[in-house]
Amino acid sequence: MVKLSQRANKLQPSATLAITAKAKKMRSEGIDVIGFGAGEPDFATPSHIIDAAIGSLRAGDTHYTPVGGTAELKNAIIQSIKRDYDLDYASNEVTVNCGAKHTLYNIFMSILDPGDEVIIPAPYWVSYPEQVALADGVPVILETSEADGFMPDPEKLAALITPRTKAIVLNSPSNPSGSMIDAAGMKKIADVVAGTDVLVISDDIYHRLLYDGTKFVSILEVAPSLRDQVVIVNGVSKTYAMTGWRIGYALGPQSLIGAMEKLQGQSTSNPTSFAQKGVIEALTGDQSCVGEMVGIFARRRALLVDGLNALPGITCRMPVGAFYAFPNVSGVYGSKTPAGARITDSFSLAGYLLEDALVAVVPGAPFGSDANVRMSYATGEEAIEKGLSRMAVALAKLS
Ligand code: PMP
Ligand code: GLU
Repeated sequence: MVKLSQRANKLQPSATLAITAKAKKMRSEGIDVIGFGAGEPDFATPSHIIDAAIGSLRAGDTHYTPVGGTAELKNAIIQSIKRDYDLDYASNEVTVNCGAKHTLYNIFMSILDPGDEVIIPAPYWVSYPEQVALADGVPVILETSEADGFMPDPEKLAALITPRTKAIVLNSPSNPSGSMIDAAGMKKIADVVAGTDVLVISDDIYHRLLYDGTKFVSILEVAPSLRDQVVIVNGVSKTYAMTGWRIGYALGPQSLIGAMEKLQGQSTSNPTSFAQKGVIEALTGDQSCVGEMVGIFARRRALLVDGLNALPGITCRMPVGAFYAFPNVSGVYGSKTPAGARITDSFSLAGYLLEDALVAVVPGAPFGSDANVRMSYATGEEAIEKGLSRMAVALAKLS
């Protein structure tokens, strides 16, 4: 038996990936599972992007590239940030990594010493606290309330800042809640961190997946003076349906970007050469695919959220962005399944729904909110309808 490190032993597997893998496995065994687990668009990557990567392979882009990505890709990212944020970055303030998850990992590994604290508003994406702990840091959770739309409270945030606080993670629009911090809320957060050494890690991966005409707000838009204190994290997985390509990136202070590239040079080397070419096409080519996908997500969002609100014991806020519904299911807690088991928390409910209804949802507990479950609507309308009616049947059996 290999004796594993304490680091490996304390790491929790990704709950989002675990439920997705479980649903896929059941499907491969011929079980008709409806999957609301995966946080990934079900669309194929648009063909002009695929063509660019194939062309790149044919043209011989099969070698190592610079560690932090090609100059051409860094330029494309700089252009896209100018377009979307109206911000100017230089090439040495940009780095490209193997997915935004890897970008975040590089950031935490580059800034944290043992015992350093990172403030994470809950509910949060499952990987933030795990990655902080992996880098020997301490996740400090900033609780929010569902009644306030999961908005981080500036006073509570101020109270959590200590001399050990290295960073705060903002994820707006949010995975899992779909909420977005508006300009006024963002300004209040900016006012708290201004004048401190706290780095703002702004995970903007859902910044273009917004509905009803809502406009994305970056902390740098409301507080441009924080520029040296903010690192923007983004990627192509969600916006362009490119999860498998594994490209993410960061824009921020040169010292941080340099440290991340040093780390990458000793770990993964560059992101995949031909994937980089596809990303250039994604960021600088025809953008109509994004609007088309958002339009489809919007219809699914209405279908899922309205359907959830019609179920007994479940209430669901209308998400502003991303592609997740985060229904509050605590009204079902305390009830008994036909087999006599008690539904006591998000894990037991998710387990019951998977076994009884063949519906895969992700428990809210690993997102820091046990009253909820997360359901991705990056899946077809027919599956959403079928999943909802199966849930209705399973919930009706509870006593
Ligand atoms: N941040 C958030 C909030 C996410 O939901 C995801 C989705 N996996 C990521 C980062 C990472 O995305 P990727 O590694 O596919 O770029
Ligand atoms: N971010 C997506 C999700 O939350 C993909 C899976 C993952 O990387 O965690 O489901």
